[in-house]
Amino acid sequence: MEVSATIEEMLKLDKELVHLDRLTVKDIKEQFERIDHIRLFNQAKVLKAMQEERVSDSHFAGTTGYGYGDAGREAIDRIYARVFGGEDALVRMQFVSGTHALTACLKGILRPGDMVLSVTGKPYDTLEEVLGIRGSAPGNLREFGIGYRQVDLLNGRVNYDGIKTEITQDIRLVFMQRSTGYDWRPALSLDEIENIIKTVKGIRKDVICMVDNCYGEFLEKLEPPQVGADIIAGSLIKNPGGGLAPTGGYIVGKKELVEKAAAALTAPGLGKKCGATLGINRSFLQGFFLAPHVVSEALKGAVYASRIFEILGFRVSPRYNQDRSDIIQSIEFQTEEQLISFCRGIQKGAPVDSFVTPYPWDMPGYGHQVIMAAGAFIQGSSIELSADAPLRKPYYGYLQGGLTWDNTRLGVLATLQGMREEGHIHI
Ligand SMILES: *Cc1c(COP(=O)(O)O)cnc(C)c1O
Repeated sequence: MEVSATIEEMLKLDKELVHLDRLTVKDIKEQFERIDHIRLFNQAKVLKAMQEERVSDSHFAGTTGYGYGDAGREAIDRIYARVFGGEDALVRMQFVSGTHALTACLKGILRPGDMVLSVTGKPYDTLEEVLGIRGSAPGNLREFGIGYRQVDLLNGRVNYDGIKTEITQDIRLVFMQRSTGYDWRPALSLDEIENIIKTVKGIRKDVICMVDNCYGEFLEKLEPPQVGADIIAGSLIKNPGGGLAPTGGYIVGKKELVEKAAAALTAPGLGKKCGATLGINRSFLQGFFLAPHVVSEALKGAVYASRIFEILGFRVSPRYNQDRSDIIQSIEFQTEEQLISFCRGIQKGAPVDSFVTPYPWDMPGYGHQVIMAAGAFIQGSSIELSADAPLRKPYYGYLQGGLTWDNTRLGVLATLQGMREEGHIHI
């Protein structure tokens, strides 16, 4: 059979780009082996948990109304708890996002007069409003008399001396963000998370250590509760949803803390016991089953993008051969036009909405304009190939996701072709 068109012809790629693609793929082979190794380990972890919880067809049925006695929902909670190493979990489609799950932890645990200490500098943009350190959204934690302090990172690294001086009697909860977020720093490794927790607990054993685990799931063999975190939270339209969960968030941690977060999500007294699942259990379970694989695909795409942009002379973080603890690839652009061209290129490379042109806009919860490329099957899903960038100097673009790394490879190539045609890159 004749192949009617080559990939180059389909994507209309210049031959210099095709050459660059081949070079890049050669350079990243070793990283792929490392990624495959972690993927296999995590797949075994998930498989074992599902078998131990005796997942079965009956778990997919779901409930309506109050959702009492939903066996599937309860199995999902226990599977997350096993895989992430917590005593209990709360995995719910009633969480509208990762921010919501993180907020339920904070609202459930903290009481008037308590103080939160962030030890990874400023938290993720949306959490600034939750904590009341930016804006005056009604219901923020400041209105409830909950204080906030932070220890800034020192050149992108955890400032242990700073933490030691800030752990005073008033601190109730130490907060750390594993992922880069909209920042230029390495994600926290599990070793680093463990060191922070040991430092904190070495001073005051009773301080609660919470980790914003968004984008970090399945990057390493362990998760934060397995190195001492008391509670973690994340989004199901990122890593652990495996691209199949259509909405939702999760919390894993100490039983008593998960119970408190559940009371904040539903109501005191109701806690974990209700919450209809309306047939979503199958996609939560199947998505979680696929998650180690999907995360490895996203990671391969990130490594590829890192290397190819680096060869083209851009600053990237992390570099292709550096360890990773989240799926985000940061690329520094020189101008706003380059940044916008990059995001538009990624949009063009998507399977959904490839024909729309993203523009910078004032996204709710963010303090500045953001441009987002998200041609996803699930709105805003960033385990699917996506790119976003705050429109502020320095012009960092963040690339993440890719259900298959082939999609990222093709998307990045199409992006580079476009950027070349617009004169933003020279090969
Ligand atoms: C995505 C993310 C969140 C939560 O964002 P949502 O869009 O509300 O899901 C929080 N922290 C970090 C580091 C994130 O990446």
